[in-house]
Amino acid sequence: QEVNTVKFAQETLALFEAEAKEKDVEMSLRAENNLPFVYLDKGRIRQVLINLLSNALRYVPRGGRIFVDLKREENQLLIKVSDNGPGIESEDLPYIFDRFYRGDKSRNRMSGGTGLGLAIAKGFVEAHGGTIGVESHAGKGTEFTIRLPLTTG
Ligand code: ATP
Ligand code: MG
Repeated sequence: QEVNTVKFAQETLALFEAEAKEKDVEMSLRAENNLPFVYLDKGRIRQVLINLLSNALRYVPRGGRIFVDLKREENQLLIKVSDNGPGIESEDLPYIFDRFYRGDKSRNRMSGGTGLGLAIAKGFVEAHGGTIGVESHAGKGTEFTIRLPLTTG
């Protein structure tokens, strides 16, 4: 479907409002003006955002912050999800999109999780002809960038 990008992101963020409040985490959307509509499978891309946001919320400490940035870069829509959590160790970084891979620290946690969230996110984004990448520095935070093609169907 043709989707209003900002509205779509707002709706998805709203799903986490209560959880964020409880953890005293600031979650906000920063969107460029005049973003185009984008042709996507709402259910699937919603799931991608949910996977990224639930990770961010799980790993960020109390009082942390999470941003979703939306912008257009040429023929792509960029969606960035960033947090100021613990970051990802550089030795884990190449594997986080692999099925069932969980970082060492996460494995030792009681926080559940199967290690499928990012593998699913990558599969859905790639099915749309897009890409997903990550930049993270241990102790500083994590930033995921999704790029979706803006060709309308
Ligand atoms: P699931 O998503 O299946 O509940 P999971 O969250 O452990 O389990 P993924 O979402 O695939 O699995 O993430 C893989 C690993 O990447 C996590 O175990 C964690 O170590 C690391 N990770 C992902 N997102 C973040 C983040 N925002 N901050 C720190 N580490 C992260
Ligand atoms: Mg996850």
